[in-house]
Amino acid sequence: MATATKSSKELIALEDKYGAHNYHPIPVVLSKGEGVHVWDVEGKQYFDFLSAYSAVNQGHCHPRIVGALKDQADQLTLTSRAFYNDALGEYEEYVTHYFGFDKVLPMNTGAEAVETAIKICRKWAYEVKGIVENEAKIIVAENNFHGRTTTIVSFSNDEVAAENFGPFTPGFERIPYNDVDALAKALEDDKVAGFLVEPIQGEAGVFVPDEGYLTKAAELCKAKNVLFIADEVQTGIARTGELLACDHEEVKPDMLILGKAISGGVFPVSAVLANDEVMMVIKPGQHGSTFGGNPLAARVAIAALEVVKDEKLAENAKALGELFRSEMNKLKEEFSIINLVRGKGLLNAVVINDSEDSSTAWDICVKLAENGLLAKPTHGNIIRFAPPLVMNEEQLMECVSIIRNTIAEYVAA
Ligand code: PLP
Repeated sequence: MATATKSSKELIALEDKYGAHNYHPIPVVLSKGEGVHVWDVEGKQYFDFLSAYSAVNQGHCHPRIVGALKDQADQLTLTSRAFYNDALGEYEEYVTHYFGFDKVLPMNTGAEAVETAIKICRKWAYEVKGIVENEAKIIVAENNFHGRTTTIVSFSNDEVAAENFGPFTPGFERIPYNDVDALAKALEDDKVAGFLVEPIQGEAGVFVPDEGYLTKAAELCKAKNVLFIADEVQTGIARTGELLACDHEEVKPDMLILGKAISGGVFPVSAVLANDEVMMVIKPGQHGSTFGGNPLAARVAIAALEVVKDEKLAENAKALGELFRSEMNKLKEEFSIINLVRGKGLLNAVVINDSEDSSTAWDICVKLAENGLLAKPTHGNIIRFAPPLVMNEEQLMECVSIIRNTIAEYVAA
């Protein structure tokens, strides 16, 4: 199985010497993936419980998605948007019908799609809503994570993400997450153009808001003619047990931001979806990207979205998510080190009884890797568990027993 000529240790040393140190990975070097499994260069098999931060919802190297990539790669890979290509229109029709919007603006990464939504929102504010130029405000939530660009870190309260990257982009106001009153108060300002929010805060540690929060937030925005912008880059495409996390409350955002699993992790594809009244503020030359909407991305995304429907991944995520949380709650009764279990569908977190800046979650993740399961902490005391949605019940129960044995070992050590 393993074909690498270098060992894990040698490959880690190469990254350390020649790559920027902008990540701190668990010391495992992967060289193959299939479904819910990945293998390291020494041939050891793992269950993947991160799914590339919820990009690989359809499972690693899904043959249908990889097949679409290979077929298209033999035909045409990139034209830029200087010309039309024969895949983009078909993808645009497919994705807009799939999610129920008039139009899509295709980009590549999640952060780019967030930037796109911010630009569209501001333009809409000046050209449709009538806010005085350069004065529009976008409301965001405390502990948000929307990516890493200069503008996006401008409204993050994560000190590590923002430290020494100023001066920052103005025009954002942060309010507490899951707080309807705070939103109502912020919306009193006529200069508010949009409310940008994650329906479940993933990177913050899988914070699920109270039931009714999204509905109320969308209603408040509508009453004030403010765009409700849902960043579903992480929660979207079946991860939480519905196609979108907003679907749990049947809330339809004015702008929907997607990334990650829209390509099943095969290729960088992201998108902003909106209806004409909002999307048509963008005119030629005002926004774009060389790779956005390329034929490879278009074919891969169609295949990835078909897999989600045909394999009933949302339904599977819902059923297995309930099972996973009930099993984790049993562990919580057994081990006092586990403080809390939360999540929706197969986006879950276990909160460890230790401080946020402890290394406990990291140490447990290293032990989980030794025992054949890959997960990553989101904070010193929070482990996110997000396997590919193609997992079956037997595999999930095997993983539960790996997690149980690992916690037992950790507590005994
Ligand atoms: N938005 C959310 C909610 C995310 O979770 C992420 C990444 O984790 C992003 C945006 C940024 O996506 P990307 O890393 O593809 O730029």
